[in-house]
Amino acid sequence: MIKQGHEWARDETLRCDVVVIGSGCGGATAAMRLAELGHDVIIVEKGGWFTREDFDQREANMLAKIDGGRGLHTSVDGSISLTYGNNVGGASVHYWADSYRTPPDRLALWEEEYGLTGHGLSELTPHFERIERDLNVHHPDEAHTNRMNQLVHNGGKALGWHVARVPQARKGCVMSGHCMQGCAYDAKQSQLVTHIARANELGVRIYSDLEAVSLRWKGDRVDALTAQVLDPATRQPTGRTLTLEARAVVVAAGGFGTPVFLLRQGLQKRLPAVGQHLFCNPCPMIHAVFDEPIVQWRNIPAAWCVEEFRVATMRGDQYVEGGYLLMPNQLQPGMLAAVLPGVGASHAQLMAQMPNLGGTIAWIDDADEGSVTLEGGRPRYDVPVDGANGLRIRDAWRKQARLLFEVGARELIFGDAADTRLTRASGIDAAVSGIDLRPARNLLAAPHPGGGTRMGSDAETSVVGFDHRVHGTDNLYVSDPSVFPTAPSVDPSISIMGFSYIAASHVHGALA
Ligand SMILES: Cc1cc2nc3c(=O)[nH]c(=O)nc-3n(C[C@H](O)[C@H](O)[C@H](O)COP(=O)(O)OP(=O)(O)OC[C@H]3O[C@@H](n4cnc5c(N)ncnc54)[C@H](O)[C@@H]3O)c2cc1C
Repeated sequence: MIKQGHEWARDETLRCDVVVIGSGCGGATAAMRLAELGHDVIIVEKGGWFTREDFDQREANMLAKIDGGRGLHTSVDGSISLTYGNNVGGASVHYWADSYRTPPDRLALWEEEYGLTGHGLSELTPHFERIERDLNVHHPDEAHTNRMNQLVHNGGKALGWHVARVPQARKGCVMSGHCMQGCAYDAKQSQLVTHIARANELGVRIYSDLEAVSLRWKGDRVDALTAQVLDPATRQPTGRTLTLEARAVVVAAGGFGTPVFLLRQGLQKRLPAVGQHLFCNPCPMIHAVFDEPIVQWRNIPAAWCVEEFRVATMRGDQYVEGGYLLMPNQLQPGMLAAVLPGVGASHAQLMAQMPNLGGTIAWIDDADEGSVTLEGGRPRYDVPVDGANGLRIRDAWRKQARLLFEVGARELIFGDAADTRLTRASGIDAAVSGIDLRPARNLLAAPHPGGGTRMGSDAETSVVGFDHRVHGTDNLYVSDPSVFPTAPSVDPSISIMGFSYIAASHVHGALA
């Protein structure tokens, strides 16, 4: 049952076994699994409920509805554009559906350097197998490979790099290219059409337009959650309040949202790591003018990926290269217009070439951590893009530039404030070294946040234990990428779902 904000006529107190805050990959998976295990579950989601009927394929409309910050939220100094979902299904509703398991080397790092237990290959593999079945994860075929993807494949191969198919969570994809506006065909296997749909069938009560505000405590035990009802049209509080009494509360408000919720509960006083160790995979991109049509906004965004540089190469403490996935980019015309540099005639000239514009993007595996703190009650996200992250960002630009020239790009456009452009491969090093990484001079997106309530055994340096329970509490859990000790080095959705299966089993064990 899905109930929206306008359907609440008065304040109410409701009871259930488990309240789950957030309905993205973490919350939807945990809620569905807990329902399968026999629990009475309520999902509290502050965003709206939108379905295929609402996904009108208009960028401005959909950005306003399902992007958490309406496309306008940035880190505090303007360095990073924060992209996240704010709707039933969370960011998966506008994700690309790239579906990687957590690489074994990353799980080994988490075990060996961060001491994680119970989240290794053997524990996660059965969950990954089921998730892949349920989301129809498969390798895309040639028909689902647009021209930009072919070029990334050809260029990577020509340069001798490891290029691989990107596993995709899709069923009956019609290649519209509107993945980021919500799939109007229900082909993309977002949480909305998979785990939320299944949770709904199992009797989970899903409340959209309902913002979790505060926890009521009895000693170390959370006794109830107070949530405010929002008006679906204005997103403002209606004045109605729900009190949800539960035996356990699972916070799955996303990598940007979960640390903020815990900070607002004052938990950093005893758990100083709340809001620290934030990662977000900053994404440097390059636009490229070709002599042939690319039409980057059609078909699936990522069918091929350069995996050669996923793990950074270090010589002792010295960074050599890598630490990112390199992907084809996909931007719809409106977004392209927003991110291409210039105004007036120079911008119009670029837009006139739009069909021939391609591009690439890289997810940087954060080397420097960020943080989120509260300032006057509002979140302030700090993400460093100079230092070690800056080395990776510049290297990713260099490799993207090499690949794009290799496959015949006529001109590269870095999209920075100085409008750096390049027409010859011999100029790559000088151009990239000259890009100013100071705040607000580049367009770097951040679609993969986490780490802000990381997992560990020590309450001084971590927030949740290996059973996903917040240290020092009896029944408060976290089930999203906020628990990861570092970024997973690939797109995170499958890792989040795998961890959430494990979180659900711990909650179940505690309630038994
Ligand atoms: C454009 C884009 C493309 C992406 N592409 C891919 C991809 O191809 N593959 C991949 O693996 N990943 C991709 N990602 C990332 C992936 O979508 C996310 O990492 C994942 O969906 C996050 O799931 P989550 O459960 O952690 O959080 P979210 O999906 O962010 O869900 C958290 C939910 O909690 C809600 N919430 C927050 N605070 C409260 C509160 N106080 N009360 C109630 N509700 C609250 C939010 O509204 C939100 O709906 C992409 C992301 C973006 C933005």
